[in-house]
This record gives sequence, C-alpha cells and structure tokens, in this order.
Amino acid sequence: MNMAGSIPRNSRMSDRSPAAYPDSDPDHTIDPALLDPAAVDVTRQLQEAGYEALLVGGCVRDLLLGMSPKDYDVATDATPEQVARVFRRARIIGRRFRIVHVRVGREVIEVTTFRRAPGEEPPQTEHGRILSDNEWGDLDSDAQRRDFTINALYYDPLTNEGIDHVDGLSDLENRVLRIIGDPHRRFAEDPVRMVRAIRFMAKLDFVLAPDTAKALADCRHLLGGVPPARMFDEVLKLFHHGHGERAAELLHAHGMLSILFPVLSPWLDGEDGAIPSIVVQALRNTDRRVRDGKAVIAPFLFAAFLWPPVSKRFESLRADGKPAIEALHRACDHVVAQECTAVSVPRRVSSVVREIWELEQRLGERHPRAVRGLLENRRFRAAYDFMLLRRDAGEREAELCEWWTRIQEAPEAEVVEMISAVPGGGRRRRSRRPRKRRANQ
Ligand code: ATP
Ligand code: MG
Repeated sequence: MNMAGSIPRNSRMSDRSPAAYPDSDPDHTIDPALLDPAAVDVTRQLQEAGYEALLVGGCVRDLLLGMSPKDYDVATDATPEQVARVFRRARIIGRRFRIVHVRVGREVIEVTTFRRAPGEEPPQTEHGRILSDNEWGDLDSDAQRRDFTINALYYDPLTNEGIDHVDGLSDLENRVLRIIGDPHRRFAEDPVRMVRAIRFMAKLDFVLAPDTAKALADCRHLLGGVPPARMFDEVLKLFHHGHGERAAELLHAHGMLSILFPVLSPWLDGEDGAIPSIVVQALRNTDRRVRDGKAVIAPFLFAAFLWPPVSKRFESLRADGKPAIEALHRACDHVVAQECTAVSVPRRVSSVVREIWELEQRLGERHPRAVRGLLENRRFRAAYDFMLLRRDAGEREAELCEWWTRIQEAPEAEVVEMISAVPGGGRRRRSRRPRKRRANQ
C-alpha cells in the first residue's frame, strides 16, 4: 500500500460488479493528510462493531480532487438504531430518511444507512406479501439512489480501498457531471438535484453529460413545485460556497435563475436579459469573503437580489408622493411576498434585509444630526457594504461612499469637521440648548 491511498482497479466487492476503471488511470489517490481523523474514527468504530462502513459522497469526490471536504458522510449497513448504540454522542434525526449525527469533538459526522434504490420494491413472497418493508438496501442500491456518479464513490480510509459502482471515477477524471439512472426520472423525482447540478458545476468546474443536460432543460420547470422553504436552503448553499457568481451565471444560462427569482424576470428574461449589476457585485463580494474566511449572511444576499424590483417600486411610490420610509416598506412587503412563492425568505432574514435598505437610505441622506447614531447602529456595516455595492453598480456617488469610509476611521476632531462640512451640517444652529444632565445619571 502506498502512502497515499488509491482506489484500486479491482474492488474487494467484485461480486457486486463495480465498474472497472481505465488501465491508463492508476492514480486515483487520496492524500491521507486531507483525511479528517474524526470521520476515520467513526468509520473505524462502526467496522469494529462488525458493520460495513465507508466514506461516501462529496467528501470522497473532493478528496480525490485534492480538495479539503466541507463535511463528511459515512455510509453503513448498520440501521440508525444500531449506529446510535455504537456511539455515545449520537442523535437520530429526520423522519422520512432517518440519519444519525455522530459528534466527535466539535465536529458532526453524518452517518446514513445504505438505502434501497428509488422505485425498488421491498422483498415479497411469491404471493406478493411484503416480507420486510424497511427502507434499507445494500451498498449497490445505495449507490444507485445517489444523485451524480461523482457523488457515489465509496472509500474505506482504513484499507485505502475504494468502490465505484457507477463509473464515477471516469466522470471525475473527465470532469463530467452525470446523473445516475434515467435523467428525466431522477430530476422529476427530486427537482432540487437540478440546483445541486449547478452548484457542483460551479464549484468543480465540471460540464454536464449530454443526456443530463437535455433532461435538465426538459425538467427545469419542475423546480416551481419544490417547497419554497427547501429552496431557501439550496439557494444559500448555491451562493455561500465561494463560487456564487459562477453559480448565478450557470443558473441564468440554463434558464433557472428566473425560476428561483421570479421577481427578477423583467431583468433576466428575453434575448439580452442579464443579471442585474448589483446582484453580480454582491456575489463577487460574497465569494471574496468566503475565500478570506469571513462571515457571510443571508440578508446581505437577499438585499442585493431583491433590490432591483424593490427600488423600482420604491421610486414609483415616491413619485406618487409617498414618504420615503413608507414607500420602502410597501415595496419591500410586496417584493418579498412575491419572491416567497418560489424561495421562502424567512422573517428573520427579511426583517434584516429591510433594516439594511432603510439604513442605507439614511446613509445616502447623510443628515448631519443622524451621522453618529448611524455609525453606532448594529446594521451600519451591512448597510455601508450595501452602499458600496450600489456604488459599484453605478447607483451611488463615489464621494458619498468615500465620506462614509473616511468618517469610520477619523479622529474625533475630524469627525466634527466632516459633519459640519456636510451641506446643512455646520450652518444650522442647535435649536435647543443642550439638556442638563439629570442628577442620577
Ligand atoms: P458538499 O460538498 O456540498 O457537501 P455533497 O455531495 O457532499 O456536497 P451533501 O448535500 O453533503 O452533498 O450530500 C451528501 C451526499 O448525499 C451526496 O454526495 C449524494 O451522494 C447524496 N445526496 C444528497 N442530496 C441528494 C439528492 N437530492 N438526491 C440524491 N442523492 C443526494
Ligand atoms: Mg457533503
């Protein structure tokens, strides 16, 4: 065995007839330094308890590509109850598909029991009586029910052996994303797989296999039937993984962006429909932050995606004479409600989005007496960042942004000067005398 584990040509599970790998391809290696000790430990403990246990899914894919996996999944023939008995810190979650979260230190390893392939009938007697109706299967059926071939590779970190039942290795080598089984049926079964396809294309820079691409074009309308709450989670995964700009371009190229964001249809649809500049700027900014290891928040993303329709409606309400804040709230309520038909925007997110927009408006007004309060507002940073996005999208003056950049760093004397230099800042005298401090303050 070499230092780096390789997925060998002959799997130890040859009775399950895994796909053969090309002879020309000896080095599907996994760098042991990239392996997560916690995931290896969970696999080892399950094996020591007498079960079959292997790493599977995105972690194996990423390891083979030399990337550090985001999270680890372990597949096993132990049922969730059996898994839970092996570990002290294990919790069974999920209702339809029960999986087990095993805690190791601060990490959570997801352990799933081999599933039955979709549509596979439970074992029956010759008279059709169901013998056992559990949802579990074996490794082969488990591979078949996974989404893409590159996500159905198994790897035993203890023996350095890999198992490939779906010819995923050659797709990995050719950088092809191919759905397992009949593409139309698999996308219809779970349309979210189409959004996942876009995410993996963006993250890995893979292309779709022709029949997968054809099915995606035929099935994309089915995305409309996905529960908006599930779509919210997928949208965050799409845009918060460091390749959000690319993901948006791909979604747009495949006619899916306006399904996820119907409120942007007027910008996206038609021959020369394009992603609004503020959205592109926000995604670029988010990608940069993810790469730098900085925090990213959902409200910032939604503030950018929903801004074009909100600002349009806001302007027209203003033209009708509505006060600014009322106009902004009405525009916000309308657009958020419309977007929620496709992707739910939870209240905890939409309320912050609204705060960001409102504060950004006030930064634009630069009212001298409000400046200090604005600087101390807990959403100042997000509103300021949003203002910079608007500047990059050509919607805000550079001078205004520079002013807000400078005042954050300026010493007190300069702050006073900057505020008084703002139009209306120094000229107006205070109309009231400064309040006397109360004795008990
Ligand atoms: P990531 O790098 O984002 O974690 P991943 O491939 O590991 O990518 P997960 O959402 O963690 O994605 O899912 C783990 C594995 O579960 C996938 O690799 C795939 O095998 C399987 N899977 C996840 N979602 C689906 C789905 N909707 N349909 C079929 N299989 C799925
Ligand atoms: Mg994963």
